[in-house]
Amino acid sequence: MAGKKGQRTIFHIDVNSAFLSWSALKLLKEDPHAVDLRTIPSAVGGDVKSRRGVITAKSIPAKKYGVQTGEPVVKALQKCPNLTVVRSDFETYRHYSREFIRILMKHSPLVQKVSIDEAFLDMTGRDGNYENRIQTGEAFPLSAARAIKDEIHETLGFTVNVGISSNKLLAKMASDFKKPNRIHTLFPDEVPLKMWPLPIRDLYGCGSATADRLSALGFRTIGEVAALPLSTLQGFLGNKAGERIHASANGLGSDQVNPEKRKAKSYSNETTLKEDVTDNNYIDITPDVLHRLSAKVSERMKRDRILGLTVSVSVKTNTFERHSRQTTLETATNDKDIILTHASSLLAELCLGEDGLFTKGYGVRLIGIGIARLTDNAYEQISLFDLMNHRGDTKEKKYNDY
Ligand SMILES: [Mg+2]
Repeated sequence: MAGKKGQRTIFHIDVNSAFLSWSALKLLKEDPHAVDLRTIPSAVGGDVKSRRGVITAKSIPAKKYGVQTGEPVVKALQKCPNLTVVRSDFETYRHYSREFIRILMKHSPLVQKVSIDEAFLDMTGRDGNYENRIQTGEAFPLSAARAIKDEIHETLGFTVNVGISSNKLLAKMASDFKKPNRIHTLFPDEVPLKMWPLPIRDLYGCGSATADRLSALGFRTIGEVAALPLSTLQGFLGNKAGERIHASANGLGSDQVNPEKRKAKSYSNETTLKEDVTDNNYIDITPDVLHRLSAKVSERMKRDRILGLTVSVSVKTNTFERHSRQTTLETATNDKDIILTHASSLLAELCLGEDGLFTKGYGVRLIGIGIARLTDNAYEQISLFDLMNHRGDTKEKKYNDY
């Protein structure tokens, strides 16, 4: 049951019905006598009035009426006319998400935030910190999982599931077992019993198109797919997807928990030019330079899933003075064409304007583009769509949990 020697101990911590729990807590904070949304049929939905809203989270009582995540609010109200629907509140969600991660970081320096409501923890070798918990009858790593789960519940007021294994894939699968407020292990030697009987669509990383194709071919469970020779699976799904599904179905996955990188304050890139730019060669030189710089900045921001609200251009003159111009956008972006458009007009203003550097007789020897006022909020909102694609909240599984 415990991890084998040489294996890492990985936890996946997943907040139960995160948006609904966090909305419920916010309401209770504002009015301690308010009804706890978690105890009545309730849901978080987008804009209820526009009819375009979809359910992004639901309470357990709402689930009994058949209310489903991802369905239109109007449809949910047909199923459950007394459904209380509250609007998404990302400010509150970000607050609780930060507090959640803060507690996790007390338990391990290796925390990888996966989305607004889930994270991996590398707990390898941290047995000693939980020795006083052994008196409850549990040994590490269960003792640690319970300590984390209880601390979150006691200090923040919401419940989580903890999945424990020796790699991230299995820990993630384990946290998705019976909910809420549970701890489950899924070590490699438990895979045949606990994971292989599950439908293939429950395999983490197996999209619904892949799951449909495999089911149509007659392979319904993860175990049936795990038993296929790699080459057969590659024949069905292509080399890359075949290899990935083969590994996952057999319980193989990365055990590297990557702590969040320190967030940059701005993204910028600059280049020294081969010849000074003047009004004579401006049109020949600058479009290419700006194009390259925009593309580089955009690429790095996209890799880090970051958007920025201000675009700036800076130059160094042939007298080694720095000058810059910036503009604030209406919507945060990391799009290379949008960055390029703004950078082009800023540079033109800076150099070619009536008050510009060329009018004053300067040449330009360096050009840079920067993006600041960064935010990853929009990406958290995008992760809403991931949540909508999550399958049911509470899946009953046959085996025991802790
Ligand atoms: Mg969750």
